[in-house]
Formats: sequence, structure tokens, C-alpha cells
Amino acid sequence: MLPSVGFMGLGIMGSAMAANVLNAGYPLTVYNRTPEKAGNLARQGAAVAPTPLALAEASQVIILMVTGPEALEELLWGPEGAGVALRPGKTLINMSSVSPRYTKELAVKLDPTGAGFIDAPVSGTKKPAQEGTLLILAGGLAGQVEAFSPLLLTMSKKVIYCGEAGQGSMMKMTINLLLGVMMAGLAEALNFGRLGGLGLEAMLDAVFSGPLNCGLFQMKADMFREQDYPVNFPLKHMTKDLKFLVDTAFDTGAPVPQGHAILQIFRQGVGRRWGDLDFAAVARVLEYLSP
Ligand code: NAP
Repeated sequence: MLPSVGFMGLGIMGSAMAANVLNAGYPLTVYNRTPEKAGNLARQGAAVAPTPLALAEASQVIILMVTGPEALEELLWGPEGAGVALRPGKTLINMSSVSPRYTKELAVKLDPTGAGFIDAPVSGTKKPAQEGTLLILAGGLAGQVEAFSPLLLTMSKKVIYCGEAGQGSMMKMTINLLLGVMMAGLAEALNFGRLGGLGLEAMLDAVFSGPLNCGLFQMKADMFREQDYPVNFPLKHMTKDLKFLVDTAFDTGAPVPQGHAILQIFRQGVGRRWGDLDFAAVARVLEYLSP
């Protein structure tokens, strides 16, 4: 029999991921701080819990997909938090993007409860979340990750095992360093060319016709063409992840000069109130800084 699943955090990603869990036949209970966002899932057959605690009492597996540590702390240890219901036989899966250090601290805090813990952030954005084709970067005990892989595969095309709890977050930060550098790099190059008199289509043609062509650039090209950045991955979330990875690099000693530089650029986007746009709006920041 499939385990009962509780899903907390029904934002851009969580709402789509929870729908895939439900469609795969898992008994599903959901909770979201803003309760209206649970409406669609309720109509599709999910139970809606009034509090995180009620969700955790009703579920064998508790999945979290929220902004970051602040939200996790609130949902786990705040008033009516899920934490007090955790015990042997229950498993917590955090899919939110957080720092490896936070994940390790969370694992230590969860240990006395006897509940299982998997660190499972995702690579991929809104469309793969809807299509169930995300990439899951999993940390935790190998046996636990394997046992919950059928559930994880309802939301993803692949689960990559990264090591102990915290290593999923480490892999997520690694991938997002590359993602941020690539996105900021494309935006910077296009803005550089524009100020030198090149046309956008000619520049995109030059990128797409050679070895620099890639899925990410293809996916964002229309945003650059239309100078409109409807959100898939919010710029504010990329900024948060860059802060986590710069802090992580401080711990490990890794040089991340590009990570530091793009953190400042993305932060300016948040400062200009473009944080709720897609992170491709880093192009708008560079235009703003241009003569
Ligand atoms: P989102 O649309 O901004 O949703 C954030 C969720 O967190 C909402 O359910 C929100 O509740 C909840 N939340 C925030 N603060 C809270 C608090 N203090 N207490 C309780 N709940 C709180 O974000 P998203 O794009 O789905 O991203 C979720 C996570 O996945 C983030 O860690 C993000 O970095 C990561 N991620 C996102 C993408 C992407 O493309 N979007 C891709 C990979 C990974 P309300 O509805 O009440 O605000």
C-alpha cells in the first residue's frame, strides 16, 4: 500500500509537484500558509490540513517545498508546527533549496524524534515540475533514499544520490552557481553587444548556431526578445541561493569570484523590486546600470 503523504508549500513548484504525487495515487494531505492556494488540489481530491501539525499527524511522509530556512522553521517548530508529531515510522523530505549547513543542523535537530530525513532539493523549474520531469538531488541514508525513490519519481525523471544529508543541498548550490553564472553571463553579453550596436536576433543566432547553444538559453530567449520576464524561477530565490552558496564557499574555502559578483547584480534586481520576476530579469538590472 502506498504511504500517506503530506505536502507543505504550494507555491510555483510545490503546487505542481503535489499534483503529481496525488495523480500517482498517493493519499495526499496539503497545507499552505495562504490557504487559498490549496483550492485546486482540494478539488482534485487532496485533503487540506488546517495546521502543519494536523498534516504531520495525518501523514507517514511529510514533504516541504517552501522558500527557505525561515519558512521551514515556522512550519516545523512554530505554533502548531509539524515537529512535535515526528516520530519513528514517519519521514520528512525537505525539497526546498537551503544551505548544506542548515540541512545538517536540521538533521541533528530531527535525530531525537526518530523520524527519517531526506534532503531532496530539485533542479528544474515550473514546466518540469508540472510535467514531473524534475531532477532530484538527494542526500540522506542511501537505503532511505532508495525506499522513497518511487515517491520521488512521481515528481521527477531521475533521482541523483549525492551522499549524506546536506549533500543534496550541496549539489543544489553547485548547480545553481552554474545556473546563475550562465544566466548573468548571457544577459551581460547581450547587453554588451547591444551597446556596441549589435541586433538581438543576430546575437542570439550567433549563440544558438555554435557550441554555446543550450536548453537554458533557448528557454529564456523569448524573455529577452520581449523584455518581459514572467516568473518561472523568481529572481529573489536565485539571490537567496547565491547568498547560501557564497556562505558555503566561505566554510569550505572554495573560491567563488563569479558567485560573489553575480550575487551583487541579482541583489540589485531585488532592490529595484524585480524579485518576483523570473531570474532572467538580471538582463533588466544590466540595462538599468547601462548609460
Ligand atoms: P514560491 O512560489 O515563492 O512559494 C514559496 C512557498 O513557501 C509558498 O507556499 C509560501 O507560502 C511558503 N512560505 C514562504 N514563507 C513562509 C513562512 N514563513 N511560513 C510558511 N510558509 C512560507 O517558491 P517556489 O518557486 O515554489 O520555490 C520553492 C522552493 O523551491 C524554494 O526554495 C526555491 O528556491 C526552490 N526552487 C524553485 C524553483 C523555481 O523554478 N521556481 C526551481 C528549483 C527550486 P505562501 O503561499 O503563504 O506565501
